[in-house]
Amino acid sequence: MKEIDEVSVARELPDAQGLSSRQLRGVECVFCGRDLALGDVRDLGQQHYVVYGSRVSWFPRADPACVTGGAS
Ligand SMILES: [Zn+2]
Repeated sequence: MKEIDEVSVARELPDAQGLSSRQLRGVECVFCGRDLALGDVRDLGQQHYVVYGSRVSWFPRADPACVTGGAS
């Protein structure tokens, strides 16, 4: 259950329910889990997922390389 229409992201976000609490809070990159305390960060905007019928907001962040899908 993903809704990524609010912000254009070059690659599909991972399933929020499979992420760590730190990733859900935007402390770590949603794609690779890297600590985002330092360096450049891309805010992916408000996203939603559904847990037990409740719509939950989360605010994923990622490092720029992961957002563009340029992993090599
Ligand atoms: Zn990353």
